[in-house]
Amino acid sequence: MSDLIEEIKVSPKFPLTKDEKQLLSLVDDNENDITELLQKLVQLDSMNLSEGIYVDKTEIFEFTKDFMDKAGFKTEYYKSQFPSDKKDEFYYNLIALLEGESPGKALQFNGHLDIVPYNPENWDEDTPPLGGVIKEGKLYGRGSIDMKAGVACQMMAMKLLKESGEKIKGKLQMWFTPDEETHGAYGSKFMPKNHFDVVNADATIISEPRIMKPLQSPGIGIGEKGPHWFKFTFHGVAGHGSWPKWKSNAINKAVRFISKANKKLKIPKLKPPVTKKQSLNMLKNRIGVSGLKEFKNYVPPILPLDKDKRNSKNLYKTTFSFNQIKAGVKTNVIPDTCELEADFRTMPGLKSQELIDVIVKYCSKLGYKIELPEKFNNIQHSKSKYKDEPTDITMSIITIGEGSATNPDSEFGKVLRNSFEAIYEVSPIYSYSTGFSDGGNMREAGMKDIFIIGPGGTGAHNANEYADISTLKDITKLYLLVAYRYLEA
Ligand SMILES: [Zn+2]
Repeated sequence: MSDLIEEIKVSPKFPLTKDEKQLLSLVDDNENDITELLQKLVQLDSMNLSEGIYVDKTEIFEFTKDFMDKAGFKTEYYKSQFPSDKKDEFYYNLIALLEGESPGKALQFNGHLDIVPYNPENWDEDTPPLGGVIKEGKLYGRGSIDMKAGVACQMMAMKLLKESGEKIKGKLQMWFTPDEETHGAYGSKFMPKNHFDVVNADATIISEPRIMKPLQSPGIGIGEKGPHWFKFTFHGVAGHGSWPKWKSNAINKAVRFISKANKKLKIPKLKPPVTKKQSLNMLKNRIGVSGLKEFKNYVPPILPLDKDKRNSKNLYKTTFSFNQIKAGVKTNVIPDTCELEADFRTMPGLKSQELIDVIVKYCSKLGYKIELPEKFNNIQHSKSKYKDEPTDITMSIITIGEGSATNPDSEFGKVLRNSFEAIYEVSPIYSYSTGFSDGGNMREAGMKDIFIIGPGGTGAHNANEYADISTLKDITKLYLLVAYRYLEA
């Protein structure tokens, strides 16, 4: 804990009442059960390989369903069939529902049960990826922090609310998704598309971590950038390597495309949902001026080869990175194709078509004719110049989703803020994420009030990933308190 910056305690606007304190004491009484539940979830393999490859996740869904059944919730599976059309190849979405005594608001918890692949060889021997081993206050395992810890805490909060016998209005439900790690085609995209009324709550809390290291308490996630993953296939002309074709070598075309992009690919600048100034102010409220100095000096270890160092600018603008390239067959053969994969992350407000227009304009600057997938308008098509030219680049889509954000000052947003202050006794920090979560798909489908907050830990998608056991209790209390305050009858 010593490497963390001390936070300034604030007195909450809505401190815990006597009843609330009593309700939350249930979490203290059941602390070990949360850890045990997390351990069990980590030990159940739920690996998600890659989009389009089916991996059976029945075991973890059956376990989760059974747990929620026993806790007294009405559970139901929603199956999304895989394109394979094999009868037994489908993914589950699970809904566990608690209906109140009278009509009212609907609050939803949400978490994904899938995990990214792991290679046991990269993990320490005594903390294997599926072990759920506890060591020095940390619970190790693939998916521990991303995001079985959050899932376990929300499941326990629901169970304890039910056990407490407190009456609620409206409904409380938890939605378990199967494939967030491959962008949710069978989960967060499938459900709103096919069962909108089932998942369209008044507010949703996703229990993904929003760790703010070196701060102690978590942030509150209000949005994320939109992933636009594209594949560009460059077409050239093959030939003998002893007779170079500088302009029509497909690799050279791709390299030209990459090397000029940083300056010439002009993406519109939009106001970020959380500006740099706002971030600094919220930080100052949490850790004070001296803490802010410490924060600025806090630099995670940087490898000598890393010339980019830490760059907070990426938080406030649309970015792109070229991350995969494939070409060539032999040293003395000029390649006629080159495949380049790019990862664009867009700010909310930037439409996919607008981004694509920018890319097409960039291609025109380079003198390349580009063909897009059919559903997009191609501004080159209106120019006769390109009409009879052969295609230089064919673009295809790997994944597409627009950036999105939630207003933190909504009615539910206020309940969340008040509850956060009552539990953590520090001032909130709203964060905007560069990475994807199921929340992006939910907002895109028209669902409102999607917030992200979860327990602490480290190493998501890395070896020796762990959840900090000491953070589980407070976040479970937060989930419980929010449900109580929002739905109290
Ligand atoms: Zn996750």
